[in-house]
Amino acid sequence: MHEIRWNPLVKKWIIVAAHRATRPWRPDEKSREFTCPFCPGAPELKNLDEWDVVVLPNKYPALIPEPQPVEKEEMNILDKKEARGVTEVIVETPEHEGDLCTLTLDHAKRVVETYRNEVDKLAKERFIEYVAVFRNKGKEIGVSLTHPHSQIYALPFIPPRIMAEINAIEEYKKIHGSCMICDIVKYEIESKKRIIYSNEEFIALIPYYAMWPFEIHVYPIKHVKTIRDLNDHQLTSLADVLRVVTATYNSLLERDAPYIMAFHDHPVKGNYEYHFHVEFYQPYRDKEKLKYAAGIEWGFWVFTYDGVPEQRAVELREACRKAVKTLNNVLGGCM
Ligand SMILES: [Zn+2]
Ligand SMILES: [Zn+2]
Ligand SMILES: [Zn+2]
Repeated sequence: MHEIRWNPLVKKWIIVAAHRATRPWRPDEKSREFTCPFCPGAPELKNLDEWDVVVLPNKYPALIPEPQPVEKEEMNILDKKEARGVTEVIVETPEHEGDLCTLTLDHAKRVVETYRNEVDKLAKERFIEYVAVFRNKGKEIGVSLTHPHSQIYALPFIPPRIMAEINAIEEYKKIHGSCMICDIVKYEIESKKRIIYSNEEFIALIPYYAMWPFEIHVYPIKHVKTIRDLNDHQLTSLADVLRVVTATYNSLLERDAPYIMAFHDHPVKGNYEYHFHVEFYQPYRDKEKLKYAAGIEWGFWVFTYDGVPEQRAVELREACRKAVKTLNNVLGGCM
C-alpha cells in the first residue's frame, strides 16, 4: 500500500506506507550476520567498479513511481491519492564510518553535486512537484544505518513547510519589493551577532527565529532560487560550509554528533519567490541533554527556545573555530 491521505484539519498530506513498518531498525553492526548494504562488495553495489558517491533506490520506499490505484473513502473530505514518487539513498563514501566533515572538500563537493544532479533528473518526472533532500544522522534521530548517507524524497506535492516559506517570502516581496532572505542575510552580515561561519558564497548562522537550541541555517549570500542554479564555485562553497557546520556540531558535543540537515529548495514545477537554503536541527541543548519536541511543540506547534540564540551563537562560534582548525590540519582545509 502506497497512498497519501489528506488531513483536512491541518490541510496536510500524510504518506502512508504499510510495508515500512517491517523495516529493520538499527541492525546490530557488531553481530556476525551483519553486512552493510552500502559498503563496497554489498549486493546492491556489486556491479560498480570504482565509486566515491553512489545513488541507490531506497529499499523501503515510502513512495513509488507506479503505485496501485487507491480506493476512496465515501466521505469526500477524507481524501486520498496514490503515493506516486521516488525515494533514493545517496551513499556518500565507500568508508563505513564518517560524516560530511570527514570527507575531503573535493569529495564533499561531489556529494553536493550529486544532490543537484538528482534534483535536476527528478524534476523531469511529470508526477513530481518537489524534491526533498535531507540527511539524518545518529541514533537519537532514529537512523538505522551508520554508513554515511543522505536521502531524497521526490514528492507529488509541495511540503507545507516550504509552502509556508514561499507564502511569507512572496508577501514580503509585494510589500518591500525585495527578497526577505537576501535582506536578512545583509542584516546578519552587518550585525555579526549570530554568524557562525562564512566563505565567499555562503553564511552559516543561528537564526534570530531559531526553534531548536543549536539550529543553524546556511544561506547563499547572493540571491539563488534553487540548488539547480548553483555554479561550480558555489557548489564547492556549499560543500565547504556543510563540512564546517557538521564538524562544528562534533566539536560542540565533543563526540560524533547527531543532527538533521534539510535542503529547502524551490519546487521543481511552477515559479515562486524563493531563496534556496539549508537548515540544520540539533537535538541536543547541551552536551548531555536532549531537547524534546513534547506537549507544547507537538500538541500545539508552539516552540519554546531554551536559552538565547545570541548566546548560543557565541558557543557555536567557539566550536566552529576549533572545527576549522581540525579540518585545516587533517583534511586539507577549508575555503
Ligand atoms: Zn558500510
Ligand atoms: Zn534572496
Ligand atoms: Zn527554510
